Amino acid sequence: MKYISIVVPVYNEQENVSVFYQEVCKHMEATGYPFELIFVDDGSTDETTFILNKLTQQDTRVCAIILARNFGHQVALTCGLDHARGDAVITMDGDMQHPPAMLPLLINKWENGFEVVQTIRKDTQGVSWFKGFTSRMFYRTINAMSDIDMAEGGSDFRLLDRKVVDTFKNFKEKARFIRGIIGAMGYRRIQIEFVAPQRFAGKSKFSLKKMLNFALDGITAYSKLPLRLAFYMGLLSGLLSLLLTVDVIYTKLFTTEAVPGWATIAASVLLLGGLQLVGLGIIGEYIGRIFEEVKERPLYWVSDELKSSVEVRTKKQETVA
Ligand code: UDP
Ligand code: MG
Repeated sequence: MKYISIVVPVYNEQENVSVFYQEVCKHMEATGYPFELIFVDDGSTDETTFILNKLTQQDTRVCAIILARNFGHQVALTCGLDHARGDAVITMDGDMQHPPAMLPLLINKWENGFEVVQTIRKDTQGVSWFKGFTSRMFYRTINAMSDIDMAEGGSDFRLLDRKVVDTFKNFKEKARFIRGIIGAMGYRRIQIEFVAPQRFAGKSKFSLKKMLNFALDGITAYSKLPLRLAFYMGLLSGLLSLLLTVDVIYTKLFTTEAVPGWATIAASVLLLGGLQLVGLGIIGEYIGRIFEEVKERPLYWVSDELKSSVEVRTKKQETVA
């Protein structure tokens, strides 16, 4: 019998995990597949860890990996994928914005031979105009700037076949943008649209700063265009200053209007200085990322793995035998 893993990163979701757990169990039991539910606790500081511990004691299908600190959603997801053992692995958020009621549909597509079942968020209920707008702008920018095609509203709610998960594990970059990696990986894929409901409880864990970093990771990981842009801007300003020189010489030789040109000089120095700083900034952004990658630090480190004692016991018996 095939076996399914569900991977859920959670960060301070104390009001959500129990409801989420119940809903997932309800819909997964309806599919008839055996499953494991892997929570990755991304450094929660509230009661989340405590609740997860209780769940793992009550239900052998649940396990929780407690990360040593907050590593961010994408890294927590990766940790879950590393630990999942299922023939298919489903990743989803723990705040009910990825409706557990859709699980049977995702599995059904997988049974029909699709290896990546990607959900596309058509709309999010109750989301601020600003978040919707910045999200749209982000997808347009990244699609225009890189050769990969990322569906607008692509979410991290998806099913991956075992093959795909094994390939994914070979992608070692630190600044991860999982949507981009999966998007560029190929395999037989299908998209399903859904409307994301509001969070069941609590606040979004993505501040503007986190969102900006996430967007920059996505763009710099998939596009060299910003680097080229700096080059083109340099070229353009070089051309402009050439034209200016021609004009200055012309005025000097053929007219009597030659004025001490401090204004032109000041303006062009400022322009060139600005352009150089932009170029340097862009290069710096990439070098900073190279620096992070060459350190080859581990992506995450685990402080605890919570499993029900029953499971631990069977494991021990296995090793004795
Ligand atoms: N999350 C996480 N680490 C973080 C931020 C978020 O594991 O640093 C989890 C969070 O608990 C939730 C999921 O990632 O299960 C999506 O986060 P959130 O709902 O805050 O994002 P949004 O839906 O607002 O984009
Ligand atoms: Mg959410």
